[in-house]
This record gives sequence, C-alpha cells and structure tokens, in this order.
Amino acid sequence: MRQIAEVKQPVSRHWVGDGFPVRTLFSYGEGSAAVSPFLLFDYAGPHVFEPTASQRGVGQHPHRGFETVTIVYDGEVAHRDSTGQGGVIGPGDVQWMTAAGGIIHEEFHSPGFAKTGGPFRMVQLWVNLPAKHKMSAPGYQGISKADIPEVSLANDGGTARIIAGQFGAVKGPARTATPINLWDVRLKAGADVTLDLPEGHTAMVAVLTGHVTVNSGQALGEAEIARFERTGPAARLQADGDSIVLVMTGEPINEPVVGHGPFVMTSTQEIRQAITDFNSGRFGQIAS
Ligand code: MN
Repeated sequence: MRQIAEVKQPVSRHWVGDGFPVRTLFSYGEGSAAVSPFLLFDYAGPHVFEPTASQRGVGQHPHRGFETVTIVYDGEVAHRDSTGQGGVIGPGDVQWMTAAGGIIHEEFHSPGFAKTGGPFRMVQLWVNLPAKHKMSAPGYQGISKADIPEVSLANDGGTARIIAGQFGAVKGPARTATPINLWDVRLKAGADVTLDLPEGHTAMVAVLTGHVTVNSGQALGEAEIARFERTGPAARLQADGDSIVLVMTGEPINEPVVGHGPFVMTSTQEIRQAITDFNSGRFGQIAS
C-alpha cells in the first residue's frame, strides 16, 4: 500500500462572487511543494439555489501562470474569456482552461440554471504549469461528458471517468502540460477497490460525497482529502455508502511557487510583471 502522508480536514465555506459557496480543501503557499503540481482545490456546494433573473457568479478577472480545471457535478456554469472561447458546462462536463501567459475570464451560473435554480456542485482545481510554459499562449479545452471514457471498477465497485491521464489501458481526453491523472470515481456502497498510483506522483483522494475508508484504517468524510506518499503501488478505498471521490495524481514540478491572488509564478519579480501587464491591458479583453 502507499502510505497516507496527510489528511486534510474540512474548512469553513466562503463565497466566491455570489455564485460559488466554496470550501478550499487545499491552497498553495505553505506546503505547496507537497501538493505540486496541484495548487488549489475549491469545492463549491453542494448548495441549492433559488430561481433568479440575476447573474450569479464572478465577473471579469485575470489569471496567469497556471490552469484552472472546472468539473461540474450539479448545475451549469457559463464561461467567457479573452481568447474568444466560451460556453456552458453542465453535469459531467469539464473545462480545462490554460491561463498560461494571461487570460481574462468570467464565471457565472448559466442563464438557464439561474432561471430554474436547483442543486449546484462543482470543483475547481488549479494546476501549476512549469516555468517554461507559464508565458505560453492561453488555451481552452471544453470537454463534454460524452468525451470522457468511463471504466467499470473491479468487483462491481462502481465506475471511474477518466478526465486526464490513464487508467489501465483507457486514456482521458484532457491535454496536460505535465503528467497528470484526474479520475471522477463513483463508488457503490460496500465497494472495496484498489487503485494503482504512478510511482513518484503526488497523489490525493478527495471525498466529495459519502464516507470512504482509505488503506483499511483511515476514515474520510465529505470534503476531506487524503494525500499519499510519493512511492508505493496502490491505495485501497472502501466505501461505507455511495460515494463520489476525485482522484488526482501528478508529477511534482520542482520549482518555486510564488502566488499573488490570480497569478502564480516562480518569483516576486514575475508577479510584479504580471500586475504591470494586467494593468497595461496586455491580458486582452472579453469581446462584448
Ligand atoms: Mn477564474
């Protein structure tokens, strides 16, 4: 078994804009080397929104130096950015946005979801880019539910949707800058599965819904994360009820992480440059 290095406990919620009641399950800063190449994990909801005619969410803001990966479980998110990309993503869809050298975007509930209201739940994961890719051109991958292959787990334990990386012989559709696996795992009550984890990767299991026992002894509940050591073959997950789990693994990027709000670079000088570039309009703009 791969030993657990740390269990991250739930934290209190805060609102991102007026659309996303978020628990930040981990964030870059102290301990950023341990979670590399991942930077931040925001779990929004579950929350039930009343119908509204107004636009809930976050207006235009910049990012530089990393990627934001948005996975929708319930509800719908509408996105527009300065590269001209945009769209609505709903349950099962994933948006993999590469801010790289600079992007401006907005993130709102879709007009359709706002009108009906209902349950809302999503994850936004920030993934670092190596220094050599931080100033590359920005990009956007809209990955629909139908593009994401689903594999059955052993012993009728449930399913895994392979968003990025590989699970056995099955490959996920997301293009990543460094080796990353991202699996949306649904465990049935009573499931007992063993997941192979790549040697040398940072590996974490986040429980979004349900209760899971990791490696036969560590209980994890909603909004808790187990982070594993980087060596050892596999992790064992036993579901004490129907559970939704996000499994993340990635090759660590052994470079300094210097963050300031929506910018994550490798030095304070690069952060100052990002602020200057943004204030000078060099991140472009969202077409009206
Ligand atoms: Mn954003």
